[in-house]
Amino acid sequence: MPTVRFQAGDTVMGRWPGSNLYYEVKVLSFDAKTLLYTVIYKDGTELELRDADIKSLAGFKQGLARSRSRSRSRSPARTRRSRSRSPARTSRRSSSRTTEVRKEKLKEVLEVRLTPVAIPLENNSSNKHETKEENDAANKVNEKTEEESENQVGGRYNLRRRKDQSDGRPVELVKKVEEILPHAIPQETRKTTELEFGGRIGVVFWLLFLPVVVLAMLILCAQTDASLLNFSLSPPLLEPLWDWQVFGIVVLWLLFQAVLSLLPIGKVVEGMPLKNGKTLKYRINGFSALIISALAVGGAVYYEVDLSYVHAHFLQFYTSALLVSILLSIYLFIRSRCASEDERAPAGNSGHVVYDFFMGRELNPRIKSFDIKFFCEMRPGLIGWLVINFAMLLAEMKHKNLDTPSPAMLLVNGFQLLWVADGLWHEEKLLTMMDIVHDGFGFMLAFGDLAWVPFTFTCQAYYLVSHTSDLSVFWIVAIIIMNVVGYYIFRQANSQKFAFRRNPSDPALSYLKTIPTATGKNLIVSGLWGFVRHPNYLGDLIMALAWSLSCGFSHVIPYFYLIYLVVLLVHRDARDEHQCRKKYGSAWEEYCKVVRYRILPGIY
Ligand code: NDP
Repeated sequence: MPTVRFQAGDTVMGRWPGSNLYYEVKVLSFDAKTLLYTVIYKDGTELELRDADIKSLAGFKQGLARSRSRSRSRSPARTRRSRSRSPARTSRRSSSRTTEVRKEKLKEVLEVRLTPVAIPLENNSSNKHETKEENDAANKVNEKTEEESENQVGGRYNLRRRKDQSDGRPVELVKKVEEILPHAIPQETRKTTELEFGGRIGVVFWLLFLPVVVLAMLILCAQTDASLLNFSLSPPLLEPLWDWQVFGIVVLWLLFQAVLSLLPIGKVVEGMPLKNGKTLKYRINGFSALIISALAVGGAVYYEVDLSYVHAHFLQFYTSALLVSILLSIYLFIRSRCASEDERAPAGNSGHVVYDFFMGRELNPRIKSFDIKFFCEMRPGLIGWLVINFAMLLAEMKHKNLDTPSPAMLLVNGFQLLWVADGLWHEEKLLTMMDIVHDGFGFMLAFGDLAWVPFTFTCQAYYLVSHTSDLSVFWIVAIIIMNVVGYYIFRQANSQKFAFRRNPSDPALSYLKTIPTATGKNLIVSGLWGFVRHPNYLGDLIMALAWSLSCGFSHVIPYFYLIYLVVLLVHRDARDEHQCRKKYGSAWEEYCKVVRYRILPGIY
């Protein structure tokens, strides 16, 4: 009969799994079969701990006093061992400022030696590594993680939360692991210290520069000679930039899309686990919203609503969307003051007002079940992009007296319809995107979703209204093939990664070769993900090139989207590499050795 040292309701010190940190916890129950105590931490996390990982309050204080008196004479050998074995070391070194703050805080609690987390690794038994390099890389990582596991005091911890016991999905395991490190750090230290986009000064620049760039691009697109050298501010600026009727249409469009997003059609799915372990629910009905919007626009044309109005007032539409995005950002910033620690975005909480306003402080601002960020990311801008394209197609026919739209206009409309429809069809998969999982909702995304996307992504269609692009049949076929290839790579890469993350042991994915990581997640190292480290970006870029080529070579301006995408994806790639290096440490280094190029094989 096991000795039960603690009773339900006792307050004790519980070790945080994977570390030597002890936190005050309350005992909830003891399971005589598994010999595990279920305890609850102050932040509400429930875990099961072994008896050896629990100390009484009195015993802990005595131990702490002894540990302090011994700490100066710690064996150097011990220190060396703990340093060399942690897979997370690379990341700690790279974020040295954060580390210093953390170290100081942690010292106050207890002298700490963070050890790697011992977790069951996903075991894809069918994973075979084709090349010797791949094999070596994978084995090396495997050896390391196993060795580290053995070094845990007394074996593996039980990381499963009590409430989740019935659910053994890998995503749950991942959730636990992701929870561990943030919790090992006292809450008040979780502040954004690594500033992006040029820091405080940089974001002021972007705040002013981005809205002006869009305006300049729209002016240039509408000029008869759209050459950059002939850029002239005067003609369009003689026209008013503001129109209340246009503003009303923009607001109505937003409300219409909001109502569609709330319709009880489509399934409700769970998003990725948040840092508190909870998940949010999302209604997936983007594709239905697209169909209903298409019917509404079709109805308007049938009743002879002149959609070329959008072309004639394009600048005013832009300024209205810009104002809405600014007002929304202000609202988001104000409401984020009430957001709890768990609801804050890792990237937008520096304490600097302008920086946080730009990056967004709150991760998932919601009004009841209405998720403002997810809505803006997926609906008004993306569907609006297609409506604008269609309006440009009608404007082209009207202005050029055409019975049918030009082939270039049809290609641009068709390709972009495919891209948006695909995005909305796979809406659920976008829940794993960096924007949803990592970025706060502030000016950057609000402006991006509501003003940048619908007014710069439509630049090719807008350009074609007042310019011609004579494409030969050869070029038309070549451009279509290019778009199909780009789309195939883009879709395959995204779907494969999504399916693998959802269920790594899916038999349908057993052909994939992977590298294990110390977090329990694996990295795909074969197929498209073994070709370059961001095959989805490669596909995206090939498609963007096809769209631009549809507009011919007369001017640079239709290539604006392509240029932007190159800059964006290179930046995103750098951010992602940084995050992955932090998350996966040595396993990521191994992955980079096996898959050398990031986006463009042989070049980058
Ligand atoms: P990704 O979909 O590429 O996600 C990156 C994440 O994938 C990493 O953080 C990592 O997360 C995981 N990952 C990386 N390598 C591997 C691997 N080898 N095996 C398994 N998982 C891996 O990035 P984004 O969210 O930036 O992009 C999503 C899509 O949206 C892309 O197709 C992009 O082109 C598109 N996009 C298009 C834009 C446009 O304007 N056209 C703008 C923004 C995005 P983890 O391991 O934690 O799962």
